[in-house]
Amino acid sequence: MPIELKESTGRQHPVRDVQFTLDGTRDVHNRLRLYHKPDIGTYDTIVRNMEAFAAAFPETQVNLRIHVSPGNIGEFEKVCADIAILRQRYPNINPYPGFITDYRQNCVLLDRQKVSDFFYDMYNKGVYMSGFYPKLKKGGCCATAINSYVVGAEGELYKCWVDVGDKQRAIGTVMGITTLNEPLLADYMVGSSMYDDPECRQCMLMPVCDGGCTIRRLRRDKDGLATDLCPPLKNDLERNLEIHYETKKNEKRHERQ
Ligand code: SF4
Ligand code: SF4
Repeated sequence: MPIELKESTGRQHPVRDVQFTLDGTRDVHNRLRLYHKPDIGTYDTIVRNMEAFAAAFPETQVNLRIHVSPGNIGEFEKVCADIAILRQRYPNINPYPGFITDYRQNCVLLDRQKVSDFFYDMYNKGVYMSGFYPKLKKGGCCATAINSYVVGAEGELYKCWVDVGDKQRAIGTVMGITTLNEPLLADYMVGSSMYDDPECRQCMLMPVCDGGCTIRRLRRDKDGLATDLCPPLKNDLERNLEIHYETKKNEKRHERQ
């Protein structure tokens, strides 16, 4: 039976946002992300597909996640420069940095302070102008949202991106409604709330930060691993507010001119 798409947003197409990813500029990306056969890089294909999508769906936000790690930290601004013309044509393309974490080793490659410094560096260079004012995030992530799943290559359903490929952590499949791992599903959905976290209950950022990364909280609480689940904002609230103030002041000045 065909699936009927019910549009409730008033947009012509129901998809609110999609994501493409790059690992750096063409040379860097193509060394890391290759087609299986032939052995060539995927950069041009991804950018071409992203452009086609952005043109065909102007009401859909096209998020471009650019992966950032200690080894390629300079790549973000170069990719932004490379796609600047594309963004003038398609303002629905939205580049943002995705910081690489080695979850299998429970290892944060760029710690909270380095991420925060990265944002300020990009801000000062005019590359990344995301809002610095803390905004209430709500709804959690894929792991805690009731209708959100990551689909594995063989149709497995996961709640968190980190679990993909580890079939012990699949909570179902696209082939049926059987829940494969109820305890894990319960951990994600109800067992990791910031409202039950003693540290969060003392923190002035609750609930604005939305409680941080769920799998990190589970690893801390269930596996006893030392892991940092808080956002960079926690380190730099004052600096964020100063920049927000300066930004607003400049906007007002431009309005008066
Ligand atoms: S910043 Fe960290 S401690 Fe504070 S509420 Fe968010 S997750 Fe909890
Ligand atoms: S639990 Fe953390 S890693 Fe997993 S989807 Fe949520 S934010 Fe991402």
